[in-house]
Amino acid sequence: TFRALRAQQADQSTHAEFQTLPLSALPAGDVVVAVSHSSLNYKDGLAVLGRPGVLKAHPMTPGIDLAGTVLEDRSGRWAPGAPVLLTGWGIGERQDGGYAELARVHPDWLVALPPGTTPHWAMSVGTAGFTAMLAVLALEAAGLKSGQGEVLVTGAAGGVGSTAVALLAAAGHEVVASTGRPEEAAYLHDLGAARVIGREEVSGLTRPLEKERWAGVVDTVGGATLAGAYASTRTHGSVAVCGLAGGHDLRTTVFPLILRGVNLLGVDSVTCPAERREAAWARLTRDLPAARLAPITQTRGLSEVPTLAPEILAGRVRGRTVIDVRR
Ligand code: NAP
Repeated sequence: TFRALRAQQADQSTHAEFQTLPLSALPAGDVVVAVSHSSLNYKDGLAVLGRPGVLKAHPMTPGIDLAGTVLEDRSGRWAPGAPVLLTGWGIGERQDGGYAELARVHPDWLVALPPGTTPHWAMSVGTAGFTAMLAVLALEAAGLKSGQGEVLVTGAAGGVGSTAVALLAAAGHEVVASTGRPEEAAYLHDLGAARVIGREEVSGLTRPLEKERWAGVVDTVGGATLAGAYASTRTHGSVAVCGLAGGHDLRTTVFPLILRGVNLLGVDSVTCPAERREAAWARLTRDLPAARLAPITQTRGLSEVPTLAPEILAGRVRGRTVIDVRR
């Protein structure tokens, strides 16, 4: 048997509870992983609290990230004992995820833990840090180079935002962190932000074309914030669109696209192809080592996830939260 946090549906409402499950409760798949760590992402908060849209079936074990050790692999691809990590591919959404001591998954979904790193490090990066890395890689592929000017990160004190600030600073960019929590300014400066600005400085930019400011943008907020950032992006600059913590609508015009050649870039960590995953994890190993992630990261037990879920949805969680699945 193994312990899992299960989202159950009863009377059209969903609640999460701890259960002890038999091995037969594991989903289909070739690889069984002994999960030691998972993490807490915005999406996990939605899933645990039963908000519609994340979980595609019930009962379901949330947790879109996991790291641990391979116990067995019927496909023969992974040796027993191999340290592995997994983000996305629908775990914790359409198939049981990381909030359990055991997981059964598809061999292609796993990434070998980079040499010299630990499952705790991998989950301190997690989907949030991996997404930030994909956003930075997308900006670079569209032509962003250090020295071109200010690069904006919105929702900067959150998981994707904090790791984006650290990654952009490591790549030599002049990072401007936008946050609704001015009390986190010192934290953001320590991560490498050159300047910290208030949320409304971006969401208040409401004209179709605002004064050109950003060479690049990593947006985790969406809504009016994304519209404002996009309207103030410099000619041939790029916006990597990652999230919707502030809203999923996007009211704007085509003018920045057609008069300034601004690139609006989509980021989807869940379906990111294996080759790009490997490249992103290699760069994360270099640019976000454990020592740099330590000030961003808190570690909590699986037992605490139900009380942490409302906190992340309320925007009160700073940086990244690693979940120790064994406690
Ligand atoms: P998080 O830790 O909760 O960070 C979100 C941040 O957004 C908050 O810390 C807050 O930053 C800001 N925020 C929250 N509510 C807001 C509001 N009403 N208006 C304006 N800003 C608000 O969550 P996360 O795990 O980093 O995820 C961030 C977003 O990215 C989520 O929407 C998530 O679904 C999305 N995401 C997408 C992908 C992908 O593959 N595309 C992957 C991971 C996450 P401040 O306090 O600094 O203002």
